[in-house]
Amino acid sequence: MGANMDDIEIIEWQEGTGESVEIGYLNPNGQQCFGHCGVRGTDHEQYAYKTECTYCGYVYGTNGADMHERLCPECQGGAPGIKYWRTLNR
Ligand SMILES: [Zn+2]
Repeated sequence: MGANMDDIEIIEWQEGTGESVEIGYLNPNGQQCFGHCGVRGTDHEQYAYKTECTYCGYVYGTNGADMHERLCPECQGGAPGIKYWRTLNR
């Protein structure tokens, strides 16, 4: 999106396009989407979404395309989480 990384001081969580990647979306497995902060996921043209398990509280990263069917890595035997966070360049 052309933003200069050096100018970004606040990490803003953004929604994706589609119902299953909206902030607050809860999938059938109890995994809730908290949006992405511009970090790419591990699949083609995906963002890594911050995801929280509403059963055990585990927080991890999910590719957008997997959000609707994601299982918790901690308590549901799901795939390991991916990196979703960005570190500030200060
Ligand atoms: Zn869990």
